[in-house]
Amino acid sequence: MATGPTADGLAHAESGTAQFGTAEFDIVVAGSGAAGMTAALTAAHHGATVVVLEKTSAFGGSTARSGGGIWAPGNAVLRRAGVADTPELARSYLAQVAGEDVPAELRNALLEHCPAMLDLVLAATPLRLAWVPGYADYYPEAPGGLASGRSVEPVPLDGTVLGGELARLNQPYLPVPHGVAVTQADYRWLTLGPRHPRAILAGLKVGGRAVRSRLPGHRMLSLGQALAAGLRAGLLDRGVPVWLDSPLTDLVTADGRVTGVRVTRNGRPVLIRARRGVLIATGGFERNERMRRQYQQAPVGTDWTTGGAGNTGDGILAGQRLGAATGLMDDAWWGPSIPLPRGPYFCLAERNLPGCVMVNGAGRRFVNESAPYVDAVHAMYDGNTADNPHIPAWLVFDQRYRDRYVFAGLPPRRPLPRRWYAAGAVFRAPDLGKLAAVIGVDPDGLAQTVARFNEFARAGRDEEFRRGDSAYDRYYGDPRVRPNPNLAPLASAPFYAAKIVPGDLGTKGGLRTDGRARVLRPDDTPIPGLYAAGNASASVMGHSYAGAGATIGPAMTFGYIAALDLTQAPERLRAICTT
Ligand SMILES: Cc1cc2nc3c(=O)[nH]c(=O)nc-3n(C[C@H](O)[C@H](O)[C@H](O)COP(=O)(O)OP(=O)(O)OC[C@H]3O[C@@H](n4cnc5c(N)ncnc54)[C@H](O)[C@@H]3O)c2cc1C
Repeated sequence: MATGPTADGLAHAESGTAQFGTAEFDIVVAGSGAAGMTAALTAAHHGATVVVLEKTSAFGGSTARSGGGIWAPGNAVLRRAGVADTPELARSYLAQVAGEDVPAELRNALLEHCPAMLDLVLAATPLRLAWVPGYADYYPEAPGGLASGRSVEPVPLDGTVLGGELARLNQPYLPVPHGVAVTQADYRWLTLGPRHPRAILAGLKVGGRAVRSRLPGHRMLSLGQALAAGLRAGLLDRGVPVWLDSPLTDLVTADGRVTGVRVTRNGRPVLIRARRGVLIATGGFERNERMRRQYQQAPVGTDWTTGGAGNTGDGILAGQRLGAATGLMDDAWWGPSIPLPRGPYFCLAERNLPGCVMVNGAGRRFVNESAPYVDAVHAMYDGNTADNPHIPAWLVFDQRYRDRYVFAGLPPRRPLPRRWYAAGAVFRAPDLGKLAAVIGVDPDGLAQTVARFNEFARAGRDEEFRRGDSAYDRYYGDPRVRPNPNLAPLASAPFYAAKIVPGDLGTKGGLRTDGRARVLRPDDTPIPGLYAAGNASASVMGHSYAGAGATIGPAMTFGYIAALDLTQAPERLRAICTT
């Protein structure tokens, strides 16, 4: 029996010999990433009492590690930036990209609600967002696709708005020196090396922020750090508790309805009653070796992911125990990655910049190197056979490429670290034959591939995989290289090869939901009281990826939708879910 609530809503009770705590809120949100914090913010905004449970000792999950991009067609920031778009264009694009695996109800819900979701986030947090100019949709030539892009990102935010809570923000994926706040828009230009005028401009901006950050009382954050900090600041403002080190261990039901959760807090079991319902926002299962092997194609494991450490599929498993259906469990937010000794490096601009090719064990190209990252890894898995191994693949480049561009975070010209060579992640050789020998790739295949590719590069047209044809490919190209900013011959020794494995930003399969974010059983009936959003749910993107921010935009939007449904704000949740 409860003995009275403490300041954080937790009461204490005795049950036989085991002491446990109890607490009660309108809504319980498990997971403190983009999905969970947006849901909690929305719920609090509509007057509900809500708690956010976080398994690890830091808040923010993969969201805090991320680039912080948000794909949200038609939002106010894009409108103000003058991005020409219409709901019809966005609808036809998403239908094309997500494909038949994704019900129209889910796609419509995302597009209908993402602008209002961002309005609320902007009104209720210190977060400010900016269009990422020209970061094209990933299929800009598809019907409804936009070469100008539909992605927004956080404007650098002063993390001191969080006070002491800043110390509990999850770490970014790549360590950044104190005060350095690079945006996605900066990154595009910085990769081109210090001589490009736009890189100089971007460098000055980053430097200016670093100076400001070193002033007492400032700490500039960007990317996912700014996003997670901004959302957390909104929760602080509304007094929403975020319980760290408090993993959800199971769901509690009564009469077929989810009425609460079991949690471990400070090493003790706690039972939390949820008067209205529970949102599972516990991220994907990228860090669960058993689930990855069970659901995904080999070779796979937990070594090549950059996702958050706590994402072991707990919420998905808890839903499954209640009979929930799952979808897309075989897929992930894949990306070609280099297995560096301190963790995988997820390649972005490296594949697009001119002067590199990606080859398989036969020394042959097998995909447009600049393809959207999910597609590039699908091609790795799809064609991977014993005779023609695509895993690992190799990103081969020459000294001119190394001298010009930033590579895996290293400035141009700087020698690749010895520990990368020692780990077998990169190799270097005076000619292509020797390089093929050290990486175990067919030397004739590699020689022929590079000779053919060099002809394409000189002509400015990739006759094999059309690299550079799409505006998406060109975004991370080098505009100084004409006529094709993605193509240059590999001609200047020595040559390098970086090992490429199928890495990921997290998994995208999870609990199946409807347009109200309600978790479904295999017969499509909802489990009363149970909701899911973000990577704990089967993605609205299906097996694809619409554009930069296409995981966080939907995560936030379905978190918002779940909270609207739970707080019974039906006037805002229009009847789109039956279409
Ligand atoms: C390096 C990197 C860059 C990326 N860049 C982008 C980008 O720019 N745009 C984009 O759209 N996507 C990007 N992504 C992907 C994106 O970050 C994730 O898909 C997204 O943040 C998932 O949000 P979420 O809320 O579902 O999960 P998360 O942000 O991972 O949050 C889930 C939280 O739940 C917690 N949790 C797990 N189990 C439990 C439990 N039992 N009880 C309580 N809590 C639990 C976890 O510890 C975690 O904190 C990137 C990812 C990475 C790693």
